[in-house]
Amino acid sequence: MRPAAELPAEQAELYAVTFYACLVGLIAYLSYIPLFLAIGAPQIAGLNVAVVVLFAVAESFVIRGRIFLGMAIAATWVAGHAWFTALTLGAGAAFQLHVILALELGLLFAYVPLRIRLVYAAIFVSAYVGLVFALSHTTPTVELTRDVTQLLQLLNSAIFAGVTVLIATFYAWSVQKNREAREGLLDRLQDNNETLRVAHAELARARDEAQTASKAKSMFLANMSHELRTPLNAIIGYGEMIQEDADASSNQDLSDQVARICGAGRHLLALINEILDLAKIEAGKMECEATEFELAGVAREVVDTVRPLSESRGNRLAVDIDEAVGRMCTDSTKVRQILLNLMSNAAKFTENGEVSLVVAADERAGRAGVRLEVGDTGIGIPDDKLVHIFDEFSQGDSSTTRRYGGTGLGLAITARFVGMLGGTIDVESEEGQGSRFEVWLPLRLPQAR
Ligand code: ADP
Repeated sequence: MRPAAELPAEQAELYAVTFYACLVGLIAYLSYIPLFLAIGAPQIAGLNVAVVVLFAVAESFVIRGRIFLGMAIAATWVAGHAWFTALTLGAGAAFQLHVILALELGLLFAYVPLRIRLVYAAIFVSAYVGLVFALSHTTPTVELTRDVTQLLQLLNSAIFAGVTVLIATFYAWSVQKNREAREGLLDRLQDNNETLRVAHAELARARDEAQTASKAKSMFLANMSHELRTPLNAIIGYGEMIQEDADASSNQDLSDQVARICGAGRHLLALINEILDLAKIEAGKMECEATEFELAGVAREVVDTVRPLSESRGNRLAVDIDEAVGRMCTDSTKVRQILLNLMSNAAKFTENGEVSLVVAADERAGRAGVRLEVGDTGIGIPDDKLVHIFDEFSQGDSSTTRRYGGTGLGLAITARFVGMLGGTIDVESEEGQGSRFEVWLPLRLPQAR
């Protein structure tokens, strides 16, 4: 028997029913053979042998999964046999023989869904009852004595009882199998639950450890950056003094060398400032201070700051600031930093192109806000880098880093600042075509409402 588990649930039930139906037919027709021989109806006995063989063929089809073909063969032969029996023994006897089969099959229907049960019931009832009664006017060729009729009834009852026991056994067996399967599943479920619980506890522990480590790292960075900034400021300060002296005594060589020291020092200081900012954000120590200010003024200041860098790279600056945006009540330092980071990136990564800024009022989901759009026609960002663009230390490929410098921290800080101010940041970019960053900020800092 093909394992029913391989079949879809509905087909598995149909398979089981068809398999047992064919088995019942086989047993029943086999049992009638001696009876028909005894009552002198060898032609029916012969036909029974053929039906038994055909039931075996039908069963072999069912076993190979050709359920409907098996069923069709069995049903056709049962119908033919019913007809022949009616012609030979009379409709009453044929009905007696076949109604038992119909009853047995009816019992089997208990296993299948109602829809299939109804279809089967319709087929069997109309085939057996209809056929036998349609032939009720024909004259039987074999007369049945009272003894033979009683024997026929006895045999039928025995088959009925036997098959009922068979079905009950099958039912009990399948219930037991189901219970075992369910218990097995429950055990596995419990095992899985336990594994999940352990994994969950381990994950929670790992998360706590990671959080503690991250906090410790942020604290360390914050302290270290502070320790580094003080001596670095001293180096830059003293360097500037030496440079002034060198300039005063017209010592050009010394002045150039000290200028390089100061330049490197300032670059280092900018980097340390960014690390300090990020460490502060991660340690939860970065706070927002809301003040009222004119956004247009801040935007113009940033444009003026970026203009020299932009022009030195041959870029045209297109600025469109809607004066109607009016006043914001949020952390102005962070808004300035956001704009400055985006604008200086746009200028840095564009050569002989255009850098643009649009500042406009933009209400979203009923919240008054502003949209800051920074665009450029520069080198653009490849798709695989674009997804990590707001991660710390994420830069373009190494050649970009070598060519343009930078730390890969600017956008990470920008995105975090935008989040702290309750806004959103999006980026669109195409390699070789340019980039467009869009920031939306609420007019008022959320907690300052
Ligand atoms: P960096 O200090 O390296 O500029 P950012 O976080 O500001 O750090 O930027 C990360 C990376 O994103 C840059 O190295 C660059 O590859 C890419 N990028 C950012 N802005 C632009 C832009 N406007 N055009 C092209 N690439 C950009």
